[in-house]
Amino acid sequence: MLTVEEARARILAAIAPHAPLPAEAIPLTTALDRILAEDAIAHDETPPFINSAMDGYALRAEDTQRATPETPVTLRLAGEVPAGRVYAGVVAPGEAVRILTGAPVPDGANAVLQQELTEVADGMVTVRQTVSSGNNMRPAGGDIRPGMRLIAAGTQLGPAEIALLAAAGIHPVRVTRRPRVAILATGDELAPLGETPQPGQIRETNSPYLIAAVLRAGGEPIPLGIARDRTDEIRTKLDQARTADLILTSGGVSVGDYDLVKQILAENGNIDFWRVRMKPGKPLAFGLLGETPLLGLPGNPASAAVTFELFGRPAIRRMLGCAQVERPMVKARLIGSAIERGDRRHFVRVRLLSHDGILEARQTGRQDSHLISSLQGASAYLVIAEGEGKVAEGEMVPALLLNDALPWENEV
Ligand code: AMP
Ligand code: MG
Repeated sequence: MLTVEEARARILAAIAPHAPLPAEAIPLTTALDRILAEDAIAHDETPPFINSAMDGYALRAEDTQRATPETPVTLRLAGEVPAGRVYAGVVAPGEAVRILTGAPVPDGANAVLQQELTEVADGMVTVRQTVSSGNNMRPAGGDIRPGMRLIAAGTQLGPAEIALLAAAGIHPVRVTRRPRVAILATGDELAPLGETPQPGQIRETNSPYLIAAVLRAGGEPIPLGIARDRTDEIRTKLDQARTADLILTSGGVSVGDYDLVKQILAENGNIDFWRVRMKPGKPLAFGLLGETPLLGLPGNPASAAVTFELFGRPAIRRMLGCAQVERPMVKARLIGSAIERGDRRHFVRVRLLSHDGILEARQTGRQDSHLISSLQGASAYLVIAEGEGKVAEGEMVPALLLNDALPWENEV
């Protein structure tokens, strides 16, 4: 049996020739959550010119040297420069120019005094204090300098990254193409969404789960529907996955169906059937179907979910060129009944709550691999290492977060 790490390392090694996928240029406003394909390097300065941080008066600091509340200095109001304009003249000794926030500081001036500290009457500006050179001036290049590496390749773009790229004029932006991920459910017993299950049938849930999970991982799902447990049907469906970068199947990898799927895949590829030392999810198939990596997930819904999280998502993230392919791990205090250790690593569906700054983990329900109700509401998988004895209430246990944000305080 492989460990989780060995299985993941083999998968990531096998997809290395497919990762990262080629870049494509897209409008910046459509780039949310996409992965930057190359380092974003600034070409020019931001702000592009020295500008005013305040509404006030641009002046020469030396003119205010002797100003005090009792002996003010008066400067001649020579003009005005709003944001978006450039003052045509030069501020001469004894002059001030009305300036608005964001406007370029006129030549000759070396400071801005905010309007609240001045009085203006009859074309004269009264100054009752000394103003130091550079006061209220935003330097050119104070935010971004040419040549600066703004964002590293492999970063997922959020609103702040998009704003920074906009500031640097990087539009369109080059991001990695989203991996096309074919999704096939196998099983005679499966009724598709929208159809009433016949006697002996169950509703098919792995495709809806995987379509959503693939989207969230940054992939583009290609749903192939359901194949009955017949070699010709699986073969026909897989033929439609030709344009896929990755194929996910579910079901048909446990002992009962093992040979059926193995037979088909062996014809056109090189697929290994693995037993991974984990619970849920022990049986797993992985290999290449032609050129395309194929990950055969177990059929039970919780097993499919956990194995997708541990093996499918990292494969997609690697294809996207993500710097980080794994989710964050935190430590959480176990609340509720003790959990027995076993010879396989156990991924326990828990809800994490933050209580006085400490994360607490509560099981979402029973942990059998066919239960979907306890998949819902899980914000993490508590990782119970292989071993003997029990993990008792109150122990701090590693937890794999299922989203990148930390849980809210006292969530219910
Ligand atoms: P298998 O891995 O094909 O032996 O399936 C294991 C269990 O998972 C069986 O109880 C199947 O009915 C169930 N199962 C397989 N595929 C799906 C699916 N797509 N949706 C819901 N349950 C499934
Ligand atoms: Mg089956």
